[in-house]
Amino acid sequence: VPLNRSNLAQLQPPVQVPRFDPAAVTGGIVHLGLGGFHRAHMARYTHNLMERRPDALSWGITGAGLMPADRRMQESLGPQDNLYTLVERDAAGETVAVIASLANVIFAGDSSAALLDAIDRPQIRIVSLTVTEHGYCLNRSTKQLDPDHALVRADLTHPERPASAIGIIVEALRRRRDSGVAPFTAMSCDNIQHNGTVLREAVLALARLRDAALADWIAGAVSFPSTMVDRITPVTAEADIKALADRFGIIDRWPVFSETFTQWVIEDRFPTGRPAWQDVGAQFVEDVAPYEFMKLRLLNGSHLAVAGVGRLAGYVTIDEAMADPLITRYMSALMDRETGPTLPDVPGIDLPQYKKTLIERFANPAIKDTVERVNTDAPLNILVDPIRDRLRANQPLDLLALALAAWLRRVRGEDEQGQTIDVRHPLAEQLRVKAIEGGPDPRPLLRMVQLFGDTGTDPRLVGPVQKWLESLYAKGSRETLAEASRVLK
Ligand code: NAD
Repeated sequence: VPLNRSNLAQLQPPVQVPRFDPAAVTGGIVHLGLGGFHRAHMARYTHNLMERRPDALSWGITGAGLMPADRRMQESLGPQDNLYTLVERDAAGETVAVIASLANVIFAGDSSAALLDAIDRPQIRIVSLTVTEHGYCLNRSTKQLDPDHALVRADLTHPERPASAIGIIVEALRRRRDSGVAPFTAMSCDNIQHNGTVLREAVLALARLRDAALADWIAGAVSFPSTMVDRITPVTAEADIKALADRFGIIDRWPVFSETFTQWVIEDRFPTGRPAWQDVGAQFVEDVAPYEFMKLRLLNGSHLAVAGVGRLAGYVTIDEAMADPLITRYMSALMDRETGPTLPDVPGIDLPQYKKTLIERFANPAIKDTVERVNTDAPLNILVDPIRDRLRANQPLDLLALALAAWLRRVRGEDEQGQTIDVRHPLAEQLRVKAIEGGPDPRPLLRMVQLFGDTGTDPRLVGPVQKWLESLYAKGSRETLAEASRVLK
């Protein structure tokens, strides 16, 4: 049956339908960037809370898409009364649940007018975001708002008709201030270190270019808590949509498939209120820094390392790569010997257990996360930051160097079988030219200061990277991984 409110009663177990009336959900949150991840994560927590506590029904989420491609989001979810199916899977099995925490869906790819009107409502007390790092309009090296970014310039020319996520937040706050309504809390749920601070600084920078008094007001009145979010959510595949219909009889235009693991650590700074997400597993803390650091170093760092060597070795998905004992052994050693030792103490976390769980999560055969999604999404800093820390402490970085060498080999845009690799990176063309220029010599690439700063010329890094890159070119990735494995013994 096509998914919508009136058909819910026809869905049979094991499909879980909401234990509340979706029509009773009203908006309390506006979310920018209604992609797969938000629907598997924050919207799931909110749904669970609604099942437990009727007072949570007023925290419904209005999901918005700002990019032209997001039109599909509204075309899919609108006819489904904003309902969608979330399938959570691991080696032990799966749950299939209809999620009903979305109160509304707005496509703002052509005009932000309706979205701004939605945020105006005083009931909206949180504006959250998952817009990828690109959505913050940052200069890549300074991580500050880029005043020359095309969207930033457009938003400064027409500040009342903003197109960027940052411009929308600034304008929405301006409207709140002028109408005397308390500001909302702005919460980033993107995978960016110190995401709350990055968001705050981008918003303040844009506001200041527009009106210094507005920037001052925002600086004093608006809270930007940081968060650490974790749940692997691959892009929904057509085959999954079909399987959902075949196996469970649900015709859903845009379901989401994720792992069962989920984690959300949030700084508790919501002056105008928030849902009681702690009742459904979220962790509120004073400072998320140690948690996000742990995640970036162990999860994201290992993910990019596995995706890099995995792609060269010819694997398509992360779980396939993890089924290769050479790669699992490499990941495990990378965490134990190099990335793990850069971590501070993380309160309440059992690190050996966390690392073990990570290996199981990556190996989850029910999650067909592609190595190329990880290679495309993960910023290179995920490797460069721990490399800097290791250099500063004058400690070996052989295994990080292998991950970096794989990254440098991949941006050539052609794999070991001569197949094209679609490298999506703002500097893709330059990267390809330098990779071809250097071949097994990493120095032309490592000299790109936009990516490496002065780290790229440090002989303690260049040496091991060169060793691995030469091996990747001369012997290929399998033999190189075998070599790494011998070194580990
Ligand atoms: P997705 O492709 O399903 O959705 C991305 C959303 O971001 C879309 O709505 C898109 O329109 C929007 N977006 C992209 N670029 C934008 C821009 N320049 N301006 C405004 N909006 C923009 O991806 P997803 O899986 O939902 O991931 C989104 C983000 O969530 C990631 O970048 C990451 O920061 C975070 N995240 C994802 C995962 C995961 O496993 N997928 C895990 C943790 C965190």
